[in-house]
Amino acid sequence: MSTATAQRLADAISSDTVSGRMWLYSNYHCNLACAYCLTESAPKVPARQLDGIRMVGLAQDAAQLGFTELGVTGGEPFLRSDLPDLLRELADNLPVTVLTNGTPIHPAAAGTDEPPCAPAGGTADQPRPS
Ligand code: SF4
Repeated sequence: MSTATAQRLADAISSDTVSGRMWLYSNYHCNLACAYCLTESAPKVPARQLDGIRMVGLAQDAAQLGFTELGVTGGEPFLRSDLPDLLRELADNLPVTVLTNGTPIHPAAAGTDEPPCAPAGGTADQPRPS
């Protein structure tokens, strides 16, 4: 990216013409299969996982270009076993927001004995019939 283009982008972010949050699609597979899913994610779709080193490089670039935060989404990002370490590295560059359906988060880690959402195979608003 040329210096002039980078400056125009920084100006657009600082004037709120462009969002300051840069989104990274960490992967496209998901443990759920919601009918309304914009990315058409599901358990059997190809993961198309974004390389972790590449994500950290993009976070560094984003910070230099004037972005103010990162968003990580998918698919279900927490299906990646490297996500906790990856989030720490991303957060060294910019504040990070993660979109998750919550189901892969272990109840103990969330400080509760109850699962946060419907079991795998269903969704919060369309649970699997019993
Ligand atoms: S939980 Fe989200 S990513 Fe997964 S299928 Fe549903 S809408 Fe798509």
